[in-house]
Amino acid sequence: MQHFPIFVALAGRRVVVSGGQDCAMAKLRLLLKTTANITVVAADPNADVQNLARSGKITLIPRAMEPGDALCAALFYAANDDDVEDQRVARIAHRECAMVNIVDNLSDSQFITPAIVDRDPVTIAIGTEGAAPVVARAIKADLEERLPSTLGTLARIGKAFRTAANALPMGRKRRDFWSAFYFGAGPAAIEAGGVDAVQPALETLLEQHLKTDERQGHVDFTGSGPGDPELLTLKARNALNEADVVIYDRLVTPEILELARREAVMIDVGKEGFGPSASQPEIDALIVKHASQGAQVVRLKSGDPTVFGRLDEEIEAVEAANISYRIIPGITAASAAVATLNQSFTKRGRNSALRIITGHDTKGYADHDWRALAQKGEVAAIYMGKKSARFIQGRLLMHGADPDTPVTIIENASRTDQRILATTLSALEPTLTQANLAGPAITFYGLAPRHALDVVETLPQQEIAQ
Ligand code: SAH
Repeated sequence: MQHFPIFVALAGRRVVVSGGQDCAMAKLRLLLKTTANITVVAADPNADVQNLARSGKITLIPRAMEPGDALCAALFYAANDDDVEDQRVARIAHRECAMVNIVDNLSDSQFITPAIVDRDPVTIAIGTEGAAPVVARAIKADLEERLPSTLGTLARIGKAFRTAANALPMGRKRRDFWSAFYFGAGPAAIEAGGVDAVQPALETLLEQHLKTDERQGHVDFTGSGPGDPELLTLKARNALNEADVVIYDRLVTPEILELARREAVMIDVGKEGFGPSASQPEIDALIVKHASQGAQVVRLKSGDPTVFGRLDEEIEAVEAANISYRIIPGITAASAAVATLNQSFTKRGRNSALRIITGHDTKGYADHDWRALAQKGEVAAIYMGKKSARFIQGRLLMHGADPDTPVTIIENASRTDQRILATTLSALEPTLTQANLAGPAITFYGLAPRHALDVVETLPQQEIAQ
């Protein structure tokens, strides 16, 4: 991040704008939303700027900028639409210790003005560090549409009610009250009775919330999907948004963790390969501890929590402690991976059953019904199959599987660094060794990528896609 976003208190502070034409006016329109003392230095102010000066909204110094003009300024804008003049005035402002912005000159500016969605006092600033103004504009348009125009009014009335609301204990209970106001009672009151109806609605809501009992702790066993945040369910997103504590596994991606409520306590219990870094009983105890203290706990597991997630052990612990819970499904790695092959998982005439198997379990390499799997047309998604590839290959061949059976390995399914390796059963082990996979990988036995069926047969170790 090259630019750190902050909100600057400008009430009563000096802001100087050099320039008096359209470019300066654009900045002035934004600055006039604040209660800063705005001074414009311009030899040739246009009519709009002159009008602002006449109405007392700005102070106009009707000449070119001179040393001393930026003294004590918190912010300074060089907005002359003239590179040479902008550089000259910026040098003066630098010497006078103001923070300098040169309009349309990102690299020489000390700060930049973001795109703003204004529901004062709710203000949203959007910045792309100059990389993609079109994206900033699209986000702004989207938010403008989504945020009700009454939001600012509600926030202002809400702000004045904060002291009264402090009668509720801090934390979840108070948050629940405010969320019920902003997303329910507040908008409903404005719609039904206008601004005057908001205060009585707040009072009624507070009474109701003071009466209700302390909210109990709760656990959401939540699937994070395979890594792409867009593959997260809306339910999972909402749970993350509400979480007090998020206890997450190693395969949950940072982009998804970013979606958790900012104040949530984030606990990494990442497990690596065969050996857990936090033991299962420790994880169980951690979940129970936080939920018993009244926290909304999101136990975030990669993919679907019910697939190779040791979910039952955690549920048993939560049930034993009499804590409520729910399972929020996620897209399991196999579903995401098969989608990248442009294949369906089941196919009439090929396989009418699916096997989701693991390469290893807590005891080591996992055993399966190899004879059944070795039959023609069988399809299996093998999780945690990297280390056990040679073992699986040996077992299947020993039980009569065709050495040319297609095998496809998808590493980092759904993520930007996804790789697809198409091979055959006989070449599985060397393919995996050569590929040197660092990320999580699913091995599909009996499935080839749709558009590479021929390639697979003739070039068993071809890497076909990035
Ligand atoms: N509950 C998870 C599976 C956990 S076991 C789910 O439903 O997906 C961990 C294994 O899942 C990894 O060893 C790997 O085989 C697989 N896996 C998880 N995320 C993956 C991804 N993005 N791409 C490929 N395989 C993945």
